[in-house]
Amino acid sequence: MTYRHDAGDKSGKEMHDLVAALYPIHRSMTGNGVRQTLDILKNHIPVQTHEVPSGTVAFDWQVPLEWNVADAYVKDESGARVVDFTQSNLHLVSYSQPVDAVMSWSELKEHLHTLPKHPDWIPYRTSHFKESWGLCLSHRRFLELDALGDRSYHVRIDATMTDGSLTYGEFSLPGTSRDEVLVSCHTCHPSLANDNLSGIAVAVFLAKYLARAQRRLTYRFIFIPATIGAITWLCRNERRAENIKHGLVLSLLGDAGSTTYKKSRQGDAKIDRVVEHVLQHSQQEYEIMDFEPTGYDERQFCSPGFNLPVGCFMRTRNGYYPEYHTSADNLDLVQPESLADSLQKAVAIMETLEGDLTYRNQKPKCEARLDGLGLYSAYGDAQRPEELQQAALWLLNMSDGTMSLLDIAERSGLPFTLLKKVTDTLAGAGLLAEVPSQLRTPAGEKSADVEKKLT
Ligand code: ZN
Repeated sequence: MTYRHDAGDKSGKEMHDLVAALYPIHRSMTGNGVRQTLDILKNHIPVQTHEVPSGTVAFDWQVPLEWNVADAYVKDESGARVVDFTQSNLHLVSYSQPVDAVMSWSELKEHLHTLPKHPDWIPYRTSHFKESWGLCLSHRRFLELDALGDRSYHVRIDATMTDGSLTYGEFSLPGTSRDEVLVSCHTCHPSLANDNLSGIAVAVFLAKYLARAQRRLTYRFIFIPATIGAITWLCRNERRAENIKHGLVLSLLGDAGSTTYKKSRQGDAKIDRVVEHVLQHSQQEYEIMDFEPTGYDERQFCSPGFNLPVGCFMRTRNGYYPEYHTSADNLDLVQPESLADSLQKAVAIMETLEGDLTYRNQKPKCEARLDGLGLYSAYGDAQRPEELQQAALWLLNMSDGTMSLLDIAERSGLPFTLLKKVTDTLAGAGLLAEVPSQLRTPAGEKSADVEKKLT
């Protein structure tokens, strides 16, 4: 793919390094792991940390008590740790209640989770909003312990559930317009690399790229725990949400699979069209899914009371790769080149949103003369002359003040990036002039209504 600007971190190494730095941290819906995570992001972008007190009501929900873990283990009669949180934080079911008890194997077994299909992997389990406790281990370990019969074990979950807060991070980049692009990713998973340290890393590097770019749109990045974080953010930012004109949830962006895009609930929002266009012209395989009310935080952003144009940008979708929510979602599963490819595509999406302006042909009666514009020499050998000519003809014909560059790209089948380049040349030659957005005819509105509004 060719883009107008370099997205940075072409090899994906810096993003992979960030994933590796975040990987060991024990994260959950709340707690110090989320704060540590945001502190590491601050080495890259000035994320602002927000704390929302436990008990705060957010629509139908409440911010939970804050959960922090010092240690967790199962010790056998000799005092040896047979399940050890310090070896892998996935051993502890997220939001487990504190426990300090001696119990029999048959009693303990009721609280254990394994994956018989993948006997060497530890599953990731949560017990959010339910008072219980549990431990996860490899099925192989479980069978070894089971073979020892009904011995007694000391179970210790040294965790606190206290009146604290829910922590999330926010970073915004103002543009010349109040129209906002929301980029959201979840920060609540413990040592799982693709889900969702990959999404966090791509968001951070996208933010770094946009911070250096000229911006028309305003960009808001939020780093939030899944579900309750999105609900809490929307409740605190209900008015601001009105400015969100486009949005993406970034998740699962580092595996070797091809890109998947899940459309917003609206289905034909500009973000849906832009992502589809970018993927169509990526010369790679991809999949576009319709919206469904399961998945990530698009569920909240696309709830009917908000119905925001927010889609979900991923590679292999959640639940469709075997390592999903297991200890095998590790640093080997996340490939630097996949992170780099995801970032390039995310940048192309944002550039398309930025550049999707509407123009009017200044010489609309019959075709304008194109010779002497320097159209062909301007791009050297990079572009075939007939493609440039085609782009110029489409642009001059369709630019009647109602069709944007994306409309023209879709109708002509030409890539947006090519149309954008040729537009710049035609505008420089005085053949196209940008139509300010307030004079444009919004879809479904007659131009007479717009004129009435202006007078
Ligand atoms: Zn997950």
